[in-house]
Amino acid sequence: MSERFDRQIKSPGFGQAAQDKLSSSTFLIIGGGALGSTVSEMLARSGAGHLVICDMDVVSLSNLHRQSLFDEADSTAYSLKVDALASHINRINSNVKVTTISEEVTVNNIESIIERYKPLLVIDGTDNFATRYIINDACHKHNMPWIYGACLNVNGTVYGIENQPCLRCILPNEPTTGQDCATSGIMPQTAHLVASIQVSEVMHYISHGHFSGKLTTIDCEKMIFKSRNIDAIHNPACPTCMNKDYPALKQSLSFVTKMCRGKYQTHVSSNLFNTINEYIIHQNEHFKLLSFRERKIHLLSNGRIIVFNVYSSEEATAVIEDLIKHAQT
Ligand SMILES: [Zn+2]
Repeated sequence: MSERFDRQIKSPGFGQAAQDKLSSSTFLIIGGGALGSTVSEMLARSGAGHLVICDMDVVSLSNLHRQSLFDEADSTAYSLKVDALASHINRINSNVKVTTISEEVTVNNIESIIERYKPLLVIDGTDNFATRYIINDACHKHNMPWIYGACLNVNGTVYGIENQPCLRCILPNEPTTGQDCATSGIMPQTAHLVASIQVSEVMHYISHGHFSGKLTTIDCEKMIFKSRNIDAIHNPACPTCMNKDYPALKQSLSFVTKMCRGKYQTHVSSNLFNTINEYIIHQNEHFKLLSFRERKIHLLSNGRIIVFNVYSSEEATAVIEDLIKHAQT
């Protein structure tokens, strides 16, 4: 074991005590895509004790240019990302315990996941701000440090959050630029750099007991990399870290929610997965790829449904209701 981690134990500022801490700790990684898969791989290679990884997506061909732990076998099989991650991580370091949660993290389950696994840190591998505000509020409520990470095109941001300032202090309102990785793209190096900086914050926390305290931003086209102290941004009226009102934990799940790249998702009865026998292009035990009304649909065995190429929640709802009607006839 000492030989395996010899080079990082010899690294100044890390050492055996940090290695022992890393190897005995649990990390909750929310999202198993570009950031979550890369963070998971690095933590597994460096000897983390237990990784709890949440994701409900399947591996797609368009993931492979940046999500380097996955391969064509995963995308061809439409493997669940968490299953593919567990399989690859087990081949990389079989001593790492991996718990997979094939659910989307929402207001309904985040607190129970935190309470059940009691991670040392939570790591943001999501691709949307709605979930990040849920993470922000749940982590503050449960006194849980977490690492915010975001990337788009050639730009990325990382910040380790422990109490104050929190994400709502930095971004009081959800950014509404309308940009996502489908419209603006995402370069593989951006995702890997952001994931690497997130892991750097993990290692800093392991070694020092706190984050760096710096907000790091990158632009890997102009090659501008900045870190700055943002303590002054702390909002004395913040509803999360000052008033402890936790607005994200009070919202109800909307029926249909918008995702990246013009796709919408919701949950339907899991019976639909068993009753739908038409329109199937590909299927396995947990996943069906459908072509319905000239739209691609992902249907998962737990009832999660994603409709592609729809541009409003009303349009998505109409397609889903039509599909349910056809499954019943
Ligand atoms: Zn705050």
